Amino acid sequence: MNNKQIAIIGTGVIGNGWIVRFLANGFDVVAYDPIDGAEARTKEVIEQAWESVESLGLHTDASHERIRFVSSIEDAVKHADLIQENVPERLDLKQDVLKEIDRFAQKDAIIGSSTSGIKPTELQIKLDHPERLVVAHPFNPVYLLPLVEIVGGKQTTKEMKQAAHDLYEAANMKPMIIEKEIEGFVADRLMEALWREALHLVNDGIATTEEVDKAITYGAGLRWAQMGPFMTFHLAGGKEGMRHMLKQFGPALKLPWTKLEAPELTEDLKERVINGCETHAGDRSVAELEHKRNAFLVQLI
Ligand code: NAD
Repeated sequence: MNNKQIAIIGTGVIGNGWIVRFLANGFDVVAYDPIDGAEARTKEVIEQAWESVESLGLHTDASHERIRFVSSIEDAVKHADLIQENVPERLDLKQDVLKEIDRFAQKDAIIGSSTSGIKPTELQIKLDHPERLVVAHPFNPVYLLPLVEIVGGKQTTKEMKQAAHDLYEAANMKPMIIEKEIEGFVADRLMEALWREALHLVNDGIATTEEVDKAITYGAGLRWAQMGPFMTFHLAGGKEGMRHMLKQFGPALKLPWTKLEAPELTEDLKERVINGCETHAGDRSVAELEHKRNAFLVQLI
């Protein structure tokens, strides 16, 4: 029996993803979101996602019934062991919501923020007990992708980072503690580098959005499910591995690194990217595409 209670604050894309993950792993969840219809939206997400988490194997105590919506942050957090904050990515809003969480949470509760890029030290500023705040940055869909980056701020204790690590691990995740604070942490910085170049290629008319996606989907993307850039290049260097790889391709690699461009996100570029994606999707809705993605990820995992 998993006797930890989880509070989810903000039940949008990511908050709902966390809800499905914690329910599937046998936790009790209490949720709060001020938007009208939040509970019905969450029920819908649970219904759509349950088949995927079920096929990966549910915890013996897992139940999609073990969730309760409440009407205040206080009621959501007061008995929780972990509070996961998932409100929109605005520093002032997050600081205010975290201050309220901090006010009503148990003193030894962990507070995790899902922020994609804000440094935890900035999130700690208004807290009376900043030592228990960590960034716990997940990946969409949270109920399937196991990585969570854990980053402490200047006032976070080592014990809290470890406690957060262990709790996310109990939710069947692959937590990674990042010791140095940096905007965007590790995984999103890597994604940003690729995203920036993808926009540049579309902006300069070198490739369409569909061609950029194809270049990843049928090439490096297939490998990335198994290994990252370092092991990929280690294998690309023949039997001497990375040693040969750097000797052979090191000088050549300097060239693209210095030539990468950062395009400006103009209205024209935005329109081209939106049109490109809508044309590529055709008559397939986002829900249909998500269903297909989930089925693929389940097979892969
Ligand atoms: P979203 O817009 O889908 O959801 C935000 C939710 O917060 C909404 O339902 C909104 O009603 C609610 N909210 C607003 N004010 C609130 C308040 N005062 N108290 C409680 N709830 C409130 O956003 P999202 O994509 O789920 O992003 C949430 C966080 O997760 C952001 O910090 C984002 O950077 C991070 N994140 C997003 C992704 C992603 O792929 N979307 C991935 C990783 C991390």
